[in-house]
Amino acid sequence: MNNRLCQSTRGFAEAVNFPEAVLTGLAPDGGLYAHGELPVIKGLEGLLQQDNAGIMAEVTAALLPGFPKTDIINAVKDGLTERFGHPDITPLVKIGPAWVLELFHGPTLAFKDVALGVMPRLFLAAKRITGDASGSLILTATSGDTGKAALEGFSGLPGCDVCVFYPHGGVSPIQELQMRASTGDNVHVCAVRGNFDDTQRGVKHIFIEYSEGKPDMKGTKLSSANSINIGRLAPQAGYYFAAYAALLRQGAIKPGQAVDFAVPTGNFGNILAGWIAKRMGLPVGRLICASNENDVLTEFIHTGRYDRRRKFFKTDSPSMDILVSSNLERLLYWLSGNDSGLVAGLMEALAKDGVYEVPQGMRDAIALDFTAARCAGPEAIRVMRHVWMEYNYLLDPHTAVAWSGFEGNAGENPCVVLATASPYKFAPAVLHGIGLPAMEDPFDCVRALGDASGAEPPKGIMDLRNKGLRHNDVIDIDEMEPYVLNIARGKK
Ligand SMILES: *Cc1c(COP(=O)(O)O)cnc(C)c1O
Repeated sequence: MNNRLCQSTRGFAEAVNFPEAVLTGLAPDGGLYAHGELPVIKGLEGLLQQDNAGIMAEVTAALLPGFPKTDIINAVKDGLTERFGHPDITPLVKIGPAWVLELFHGPTLAFKDVALGVMPRLFLAAKRITGDASGSLILTATSGDTGKAALEGFSGLPGCDVCVFYPHGGVSPIQELQMRASTGDNVHVCAVRGNFDDTQRGVKHIFIEYSEGKPDMKGTKLSSANSINIGRLAPQAGYYFAAYAALLRQGAIKPGQAVDFAVPTGNFGNILAGWIAKRMGLPVGRLICASNENDVLTEFIHTGRYDRRRKFFKTDSPSMDILVSSNLERLLYWLSGNDSGLVAGLMEALAKDGVYEVPQGMRDAIALDFTAARCAGPEAIRVMRHVWMEYNYLLDPHTAVAWSGFEGNAGENPCVVLATASPYKFAPAVLHGIGLPAMEDPFDCVRALGDASGAEPPKGIMDLRNKGLRHNDVIDIDEMEPYVLNIARGKK
């Protein structure tokens, strides 16, 4: 197996090098690009002594052979060190019995900023490395947070347009304002009448239709900023190592000691990065896969049966309102020993029948690394209130779901709860969670939350209030394809 090449999880597309995989996003056969063999970090002890920027660059470089190290170091410096509001980028704080890894100090206040700070710079490097001079259109479906992070990351990037589709009425008011106020000549934002799964399916359909560069794309190449892009996953593995290093520095663990991670999960990208970190040699114990009422992954991890034919719930943690978790496909590929025939069959069954079941051996392998937890709305509210009353700490509704998973599965190992969004981004739900009245206007809620906690709300959010809304399009699912073609042809 050539370690410098990416395989498609479905096996019908040619293997490509990593810069090409980052440029392409989805493989032409509908599969996801994946390592034939994941790299193992040599000299883990030395790595863990570096600062967080150094650790993230090192881990990203190990996962993306074919990119010069200097490109990756610069991407981390420009995209993270200089854009994040905390010197540690992703600080680790002790809150009661848990450790909370704050991933939300980036410009859009959600964890997507980590990967989408780094990825656009890798994208430019990939163009240079492959000698690709064509125009690019970054096509993205968002459940709320990826969209704004992609718009931030790719805004103004030469040779690239970025187009974000989000489910109409399916994101939080602040998330929607953030996206619709986006500036930059190369950014396009559009609401779709449907839920996130419809939107993601629409985008995947366009990728497959136009992957061979149909003539009417006028030479524009499509790529993705979603976690289907391998360039998204690589930087995310870095903060698992950074969290471990912080625990070592604070004397909370001994070298080699296993640490559990509780991860609020939607598309399975964040938690898969944790599993990749484990494969790379980080002493990870259990990965607690935490879901809201959309508990398709909870059932899957418990039974081996993935069944998307179920009611879809709109929750207070909208970034996890997902029934088809794309990145699970990569886990199935790796756990089956790269059995692309098996994966292609399962994905076909999912598309056709809405359900598949994995062989017992894979079920057992999944149970070794993952624990599943479900947290419904009232439980998330109990958690937000409890953590606020006991520890004077605000959890956003997504992080509350992860905290609940931690509480229900606390074992011997220290546990890190991944905090994926700033509480201010979901201020109305958080106010309700901690037992204060929520106002009509989301900005009043942000202010009230600031008053309650005695902290200044993040500037980026309050500034939104005075920004004009530049994007007003709302379309049906079947209008997505012509919408994209218009952008590609320069009409939009
Ligand atoms: C995207 C997102 C998640 C889910 O992450 P996945 O990688 O899709 O599993 C959880 N919380 C927040 C705040 C998010 O933005």
